[in-house]
Amino acid sequence: METEKNYHMTADDFRKQGHALIDWIARYYETVEALPVLSQNRPGDVRRQLPEHAPQTGEPFSVMMQDVERIILPGVTHWQSPNFFAFFPSNSSYPAVLGELLSAGLGVQGMLWASSPACTELETHVMDWLVDMMDLPPGFKSDSAGGGVIQESASSGALCAIVAARERATELASNRRGCNGRLTAYASTQAHSSIEKAIKLAGIGGENLRLIPTDARYAMRPDALAAAIGQDREKGLKPFFVAATVGTTSVNGMDPLPEIGRICQAEKLWLHVDGAMAGSAAVCPEFRRFFIGLDSADSYCFNPHKWLFTNFDCDCFFVRNRAALIQALTILPEYLRNQATESGAVIDYRDWQVSLGRRFRALKLWFVIRHYGVEGLQHHIRRHVRWAQTFAGWVSENEAFELTAPPPLNLVCFRLRGSDALNQTLMDRLNQSGRLYLTHTKLNDRLVLRFCVGQTHTEFHHVQQAWNLITTFAQDLQKKQ
Ligand SMILES: *Cc1c(COP(=O)(O)O)cnc(C)c1O
Repeated sequence: METEKNYHMTADDFRKQGHALIDWIARYYETVEALPVLSQNRPGDVRRQLPEHAPQTGEPFSVMMQDVERIILPGVTHWQSPNFFAFFPSNSSYPAVLGELLSAGLGVQGMLWASSPACTELETHVMDWLVDMMDLPPGFKSDSAGGGVIQESASSGALCAIVAARERATELASNRRGCNGRLTAYASTQAHSSIEKAIKLAGIGGENLRLIPTDARYAMRPDALAAAIGQDREKGLKPFFVAATVGTTSVNGMDPLPEIGRICQAEKLWLHVDGAMAGSAAVCPEFRRFFIGLDSADSYCFNPHKWLFTNFDCDCFFVRNRAALIQALTILPEYLRNQATESGAVIDYRDWQVSLGRRFRALKLWFVIRHYGVEGLQHHIRRHVRWAQTFAGWVSENEAFELTAPPPLNLVCFRLRGSDALNQTLMDRLNQSGRLYLTHTKLNDRLVLRFCVGQTHTEFHHVQQAWNLITTFAQDLQKKQ
């Protein structure tokens, strides 16, 4: 009997190419530190090398991998390089990569419990583990009124929090009648841009977000928060939402949660706490002091895809009252009706996020936690913090440099004494050298360099080598002046 031609990759081919690809990834991790960390590509370099049209007939996988090496790799900034100290880490690990692969292999769509029970239940369970592992408020656990869900990003988490807060503040009317422009929200001047974006997306209006000044350590000033809320009430506006940050993006500033929490409780405002990177530090008891007061938060999120060895995307989002979140986000068309949902005995995570469909993200986080164990995660987080502190010590001992603020965790902000232009040139030259990658921020209108330690394969000698490079390049620059 003649079978109709099909174009699929055979299982045998998949095995062969798949094994080779795993070898390729392992070799990549073993050798990535030799590659220029920051891609040296100019705009258009990748596209110029790609054919204008999609191929009419299929091509062998081996040819695609040749193009990966030839065209793609030079256009990659190597986030997994041990010499990556820019922005925030996005640290991956072998168990995470394997979890991601398995998730792709299973190809599950976990919108409902019924659409794949394990996808939902593993996620709920791992989120409960995290509450215990990090000593988070018990009200975030699934056996309380709250619970946790994996979102794609802290930005999505903030949006969900704001929409839930908006519904609560408008007595469940804003989803039906829209927002009337009288709701006001608060975050510090150092809050991440995703808060402003979420405020705009939720229809609150960018002008209704008040940016509260910070103190000398770049933490939100509770007195200024209280004053801003009071002024808005006097104008007849309706304060409804405060975003506090544990570990601001620019300098790792720590907003004072206990004071902010007290204000939010007295004023009946939704408190969202954004711990995007620093949140991972809570696996270590000695860093939990930054999270005191988290029990007054209505929602909280942090990103294992930043600093917990789990590749993007994986944001852990917790709420204290899941009914508030679900009320704001639920939608039930006929084609999604099913017995499990009607019984009320299951969680349907489509009601906890913006999109309907969802990936089986819990697998990679589960693999990571089980591979490292709590002690393994603590060990690596501690090393990063210790090395950042050591680096900060070197900065303060060197007269050519100044430390912007004492680093609470793994992010050091510093500058070469001299003009912004000098610091910019120093950073550009370092990054062009390809031997490390760091980025900058502006604080009090001055350019400041940021050095963030958090890559999976970073060792102490990489930090030492980075400091040697920074001081050598700086000396060179100052000689030429
Ligand atoms: C990185 C960061 C974010 C954004 O994270 P995404 O997951 O990329 O949306 C939000 N808040 C803070 C404090 C951050 O540092």
